[in-house]
Amino acid sequence: MSLIDVKSFAVGQWVTPDSDARQIFNAVTGEGMARAGNSTLDVEAMLEFGRTKGGPALRAMTFHDRARMLKALAIEIGKHKQALYDISFATGATQSDNLIDIDGGIGTMFVFASKGRRELPDAHVYLDGDVEQLSRNGTFLGQHIATSMQGVAVHINAFNFPVWGMLEKLAPTLLAGVPAIVKPATATCYVTELAVKIMLDSGLLPEGALQLVSGGLGDMLDRLTHQDIVSFTGSAHTALKLRSAPHILENSIRFVAEQDSLNASILGPDAEPGTPEFDLFIKEVQREMTTKAGQKCTAIRRIIVPEAQSSAVIEALSARLAKTVIGDPKIEGVRMGALVSQSQKNDVLKTASLIGTEAERVYGDPDNFEVQGADANTGAFVPPMLFHCSNPDQAKIVHENEAFGPVSTIMGYRDLDHAMTLANRGEGSLVASVITRDPEVARSVVLGSGAYHGRLYFNNRDSMKESTGHGSPLPHMVHGGPGRAGGGEEMGGIRGVMHYMQRTAVQGSPDILSAVGRKWVPGATELEAPAHPFTRTFNELQIGETIHTAEREISLEDIETFAHFTGDTFYAHMNAEAAKRNPFFPDRVAHGYLLISFAAGLFVEPNEGPVLANTGLDNLRFMKPVEAGDSIKVRLSVKHKTPRNEEYGEVRWHVTMANQDNDLVAEYELLTMNAYERQT
Ligand code: NDP
Repeated sequence: MSLIDVKSFAVGQWVTPDSDARQIFNAVTGEGMARAGNSTLDVEAMLEFGRTKGGPALRAMTFHDRARMLKALAIEIGKHKQALYDISFATGATQSDNLIDIDGGIGTMFVFASKGRRELPDAHVYLDGDVEQLSRNGTFLGQHIATSMQGVAVHINAFNFPVWGMLEKLAPTLLAGVPAIVKPATATCYVTELAVKIMLDSGLLPEGALQLVSGGLGDMLDRLTHQDIVSFTGSAHTALKLRSAPHILENSIRFVAEQDSLNASILGPDAEPGTPEFDLFIKEVQREMTTKAGQKCTAIRRIIVPEAQSSAVIEALSARLAKTVIGDPKIEGVRMGALVSQSQKNDVLKTASLIGTEAERVYGDPDNFEVQGADANTGAFVPPMLFHCSNPDQAKIVHENEAFGPVSTIMGYRDLDHAMTLANRGEGSLVASVITRDPEVARSVVLGSGAYHGRLYFNNRDSMKESTGHGSPLPHMVHGGPGRAGGGEEMGGIRGVMHYMQRTAVQGSPDILSAVGRKWVPGATELEAPAHPFTRTFNELQIGETIHTAEREISLEDIETFAHFTGDTFYAHMNAEAAKRNPFFPDRVAHGYLLISFAAGLFVEPNEGPVLANTGLDNLRFMKPVEAGDSIKVRLSVKHKTPRNEEYGEVRWHVTMANQDNDLVAEYELLTMNAYERQT
């Protein structure tokens, strides 16, 4: 059979493998099926192409432009899902594994697209936090901002998720405005190559935004600058080697690492046999052991259960594992496919034997198991293997060595503190789960174990129907962990975008900060509105456009009317003596909501116009009480504008209310939806 050439995509060209290419084997049959690698790839030219073509083109787009591009890319990959499923079977993956990899990757991209539109501005600068008051009179302020790194992101990915592994890094990178060079693990790079081809053929990406290295990276990492980023997923050994290279250290090159960890799942003390929680625990552990044949960075490696329940857990888990049909993933009914390669199989068997020196194998025999539709020896098959470690305090190997396959070890705990001590012996993991219905158990685990894990997953009968699973990293939530897990973080919503941006503290006058962030800052120049701002369309309104209203006096009758009309007869508005006993009030005072309503009455323009709706009010503060006889007046400024859809966008107005002495009475932000165009 002739080998498929898996190409790289460099400087706008597809490059075929050369004579130094590595051979890739079908995980199920063991036959050679493809080759990848080209030792003459011009890696310097690739970096330059990304930096000079892809970077500027992406940075010219706003966050919203990039988010729209991500959505279109996700739709495009979705159209070609079947082709991706078809070639993925050769990696040993079943159709449910494919759904995690391919549909999971597409879903991740959709989430970043949607978060980009909702949580990032339609602009180029990200504002991180609020304006900091650095001076008494407010003429010198501070604001943290983030801008796109001006280099290239090099993504080095693991073999287990050739599509999701690429997209979970690519989506935040592109959203940040940074071009990527993707280097998938060679063993499964033919799947990534197809996904890259789909994206490039769509024409949605600017030139230079995405390049691909199938095979080795050559000396690319030695050519990076401090504007480049490396994001790595794989073994701790490779991570250490790459991140400690002198060039990476000397140039402070960002290196995000996500590596193997010994994730634990704890059966809560309350989850006894016969409870829904016990059954749920068995189900989750079995699923984590067998999905992707256990080749998941988040898989449960250590099963921590009350000592008294060890036998019951072994029995129930063994019974469930016995139902796992192993074989050619294309065959109907097969639940677990092959490991990715013979070398991974050897590795898993070697580590399982090592674990066997500290723990007894209680389920699964690698020398005797059934495989449907394939040869157990030529294909990279292993059975699920369950170990029981009766002395987890003395043991070392079970806490330190990960068999990257369907291999887990049960260990008993005496009490919750002991369970946490055992979970923490992994010295840093991506995820730990606890199956419990006791909120106090959950709180204790958060306090005692949170610092050791990147994610804590609690599940019980109340959440199990909608829960996403111990092993599923979600685009909304942080994926990564301390210590052995690599110390990195990915995703976590917009947090993940920030890995590809530089945070800068900007200091200056209100006008400077307003211009930098495209957001009006109190104290900045007020633009005189040429007409009432409510008569002006979204497109016409300028940041900083301001009106000052006339004054209105508040009478005792206003307060009484409002109180009886709304039913808010709180004593501070109704009873002078009681109000005076309150340290906040000098006398009966106007309701805060009365003031807000009168403010609207002062600034509103009542006729039909571009303002479509009042959609909310943020950060409301009342600073000074208003008594009968006081007056109020309002200042209304356009603070920020965000397009929302084809017809209208959100205008955020900064509102201050002052009394007759110019003392600040209240401050808030008003949100309206304004039409882009005037309706005629
Ligand atoms: P590796 O660490 O060997 O490879 C991970 C990635 O790094 C691959 O893309 C690999 O490319 C690349 N790589 C390796 N050496 C270099 C180098 N010198 N310069 C640049 N890139 C390099 O992991 P494996 O994929 O071989 O898996 C081995 C073990 O890693 C597993 O058994 C498991 O324990 C762990 N692992 C952890 C994962 C996780 O998500 N936490 C996922 C997968 C594996 P290439 O394939 O071309 O060598």
